[in-house]
Amino acid sequence: MAEQHRARKRFGQNFLVDHHIIRQITRCFTDSAHPIVEIGPGRGALTGELLNVGVPVIALELDRDLIPVLQRQFQQHDHFDLRQADALRFDFAELQPMAPLRLVGNLPYNVATPLIFRLLEDVSWIVDMHFMLQWEVVARLSARCGDPHYGQLSIVVQNLCESATLLEVPPSAFSPSPKVNSGVIHLKPRAQPVVPSGQHSAFNALVKSAFSQRRKTLRNNLKGVLTAEQIQESDVDPGLRAEALPIEAFARLTRTLLDATDTPPPKAP
Ligand code: SAM
Repeated sequence: MAEQHRARKRFGQNFLVDHHIIRQITRCFTDSAHPIVEIGPGRGALTGELLNVGVPVIALELDRDLIPVLQRQFQQHDHFDLRQADALRFDFAELQPMAPLRLVGNLPYNVATPLIFRLLEDVSWIVDMHFMLQWEVVARLSARCGDPHYGQLSIVVQNLCESATLLEVPPSAFSPSPKVNSGVIHLKPRAQPVVPSGQHSAFNALVKSAFSQRRKTLRNNLKGVLTAEQIQESDVDPGLRAEALPIEAFARLTRTLLDATDTPPPKAP
């Protein structure tokens, strides 16, 4: 039974116990037509409500001790597919015959960011993602230019997904309680990324350089990447800081950079 399972810190186990929050998350799946992949079902706080939607729920749980706890609770559901697996190593291509899929999870803090980056490598099979994360990360994922949390993470993720904060969740919603606030982020892959996919590595590197010293201007941070004239040619003021630029401006800077790289140097007289 769930009571016999001791929460393990190393698996980031802070189980949701606030039914109001559980319902607010699972409400996002009412009438869903697509199978749901739950990462880290734990003791099943979200799983039961998700199974009530009536679509298959594929659950990936790392902790072997939780597998019998989950089987006992949900084995009578035809649509429950439980796998003992590390979501950071799991081959999601295995699930693609069932795609498109929706993802949900109350994720351990050390797993959340690497997992999101792994999933973003190929979003073609994902309808959307609802993840409970540390509040700080939720704020960064959903920040728009001008927000204090806006930075490299916001831009790289929002290039591929529309993002929105759904909930802020206090420590008291979990047992044991974490030290920090949490929140639920909704990420929905865009039909087309803002920056064409062939330009992503140049875009990601440029964004990283632009934010390398947050207080410095683009002219300074992009030295050696783009000249002040090239920044201006992209309709961007080189005296601005990176935090003032929307993704579209970074897209223009990337285009200028790639055009300059493609252009052969002028012939010597
Ligand atoms: N969903 C449950 C809830 O809301 O009460 C549990 C959430 S708890 C924060 C995180 C869960 O993810 C735990 O059950 C933990 O064992 C599991 N987990 C941790 N690392 C994982 C990984 N790499 N892959 C899959 N599950 C993982």
